[in-house]
Amino acid sequence: MNLEDINAVAKLLSEPQKIVIIPHKNPDGDAIGSTLALWHYLKNRGQNAQIIVPNDFPKFLKWMPGQDEIMNFEKENSQSKALINEATIIFTLDFNHLGRIAQMEPVLIESDATFVMIDHHQAPADYAQYMYSDVLMSSTCEMVYNFIEFLRDEDKITPEMAICLYTGIMTDTGSFKYSSTTSRTHRVVANLIDKGAENTKAHNLVFDTNTPNRLHLLGCALKNMVILEEYNTAYITLSQDELDTYGFQKGDTEGFVNYGLTLHGIRFAVIFIENREEGIIKISFRSEGEFSVNEFARKHFNGGGHTNAAGGRSDIPLKETAEYFVSLLKEYKTQLNP
Ligand code: 5GP
Ligand code: MN
Repeated sequence: MNLEDINAVAKLLSEPQKIVIIPHKNPDGDAIGSTLALWHYLKNRGQNAQIIVPNDFPKFLKWMPGQDEIMNFEKENSQSKALINEATIIFTLDFNHLGRIAQMEPVLIESDATFVMIDHHQAPADYAQYMYSDVLMSSTCEMVYNFIEFLRDEDKITPEMAICLYTGIMTDTGSFKYSSTTSRTHRVVANLIDKGAENTKAHNLVFDTNTPNRLHLLGCALKNMVILEEYNTAYITLSQDELDTYGFQKGDTEGFVNYGLTLHGIRFAVIFIENREEGIIKISFRSEGEFSVNEFARKHFNGGGHTNAAGGRSDIPLKETAEYFVSLLKEYKTQLNP
C-alpha cells in the first residue's frame, strides 16, 4: 500500500464510520481470520463494524474469537443488505473481483461506500478506491498484520486478533510450507505468538477435528485418484452420491487435492467435486514449481487464484469435465515435464 493511500485510509478511520467487512464466497481460514482480525481492530478503535460472509463457513473455523458475530448474507439477507447500503467504508478481504462474492455482487455495485481491498490474488479488478494488493504475500492475514503496522498500531494487536491472523497464515501457507512463506512470514508469526496467539491450539482446532465420515470420504477420494504419469498429473473426482454416502459437511474436502502433490514426481494435482444443488463441478488446482494453475484455471475453467493454488468450475457433468480436463493436458505436456 502506498503512503498516500495509507494516509487517506488513516484519515478515514480517524472519524466514526459505518464499516462492513466482506470475504469471498466459501470463506477459508485466511478469509475468516483476516476479516475477524480487522473487525476486532476496528471495534477496539471504537468503530461500528460488521463482517458479512456471502455464505456459511466450515465448522473447523467456528471457534475463532468473534466468529459468532459474523453475519451470513444468505441467511440474514435483508439485514445484510441494509448494512451494506448504509456502509461508509467496505473492506473486501482475500478476493479481488466482485464475481467472487456471488449473489452479493449487485448489492455492492449499488453501494456508495469507499472500498478498501486487501488481497494477495493475481489480476485485481478495479473497484476499490484504496488497494493493498500484493501477489507475493503468503496470505491476506499477513497483509492485515502489515496494514495494522502501516497504521502504527502493532501494539494494539490483542491475543484474539493474534490467533485469527495466525490461523489464516497457517491455513493459507499449508502450515508454513508453501513457497509463498518467507522469512518475513515467520517473523510475523513469531510476533503473533508473542502477542498471545496460542499456536498449538490453532493447529489442533483446525486440523485435528476429523470425523470418521470425513476420513472415509478421504479414503474414497484417494481410491478415485487417477495418476497420469505422462503429464506428472494426478486428479480426484468426487460425485454427489459419494459425498452423500459419507454425510458430507462443508469443509470436509478441504486439503484433499494436496494428496496428489505428495506423490513423487507429481507437479499438478486437481480435484473435481460435484455440487448437484448448484449444478456445477467445483474444481481445485494445485501445482509445484513454475506451472501456473492460476492461468490454467482462468483460461479453461472460469476461475483463478495463485500460481500454485487456484480454483474454478465447470457446468458439464463430472465425467465429461474430467475427460475434457485430460484432453487439455497435451497442450501442457512440455510445461509439465520440465
Ligand atoms: P481452493 O481450491 O482452496 O478453493 O482455492 C484455491 C485458491 O484459488 C484460493 O486462493 C481461492 O481464493 C482461489 N479460487 C478458488 N476458487 C476460485 C474461483 O472460482 N475463481 C477465482 N478467481 N479464484 C478461485
Ligand atoms: Mn488467502
